[in-house]
Amino acid sequence: MSKRLQDTARETVRDLQMVLPCAYPVKLGKPFTRGDDIADTEFTGKSYIIRVRERITMEEALASVVRDAIMHEYAHARVWGRLQAMTGDHDGHWGMEYARVYRELLGVA
Ligand SMILES: [Zn+2]
Repeated sequence: MSKRLQDTARETVRDLQMVLPCAYPVKLGKPFTRGDDIADTEFTGKSYIIRVRERITMEEALASVVRDAIMHEYAHARVWGRLQAMTGDHDGHWGMEYARVYRELLGVA
């Protein structure tokens, strides 16, 4: 993983902890080398350690970006259908639908 991606991961963990703290500190661990998942989390008893796979192919990365973008837009479609209006771009309605879309997609996988 490039220095820039490591910085992105570290900053994301730091930013999330500032706005949504967890019961224990969340830390970024050393990248791992094997497995299908792009990242995982382990609880040590004192902290949560998030690790990202060392090597991520361009195809995997792009698939992830496209999947996230579709989930994002699908949540808009769900809200607009329910409210019968194209309103409130990323408000609470959208956030709840995004959470549902995310859960259904990952729950089924
Ligand atoms: Zn949007």
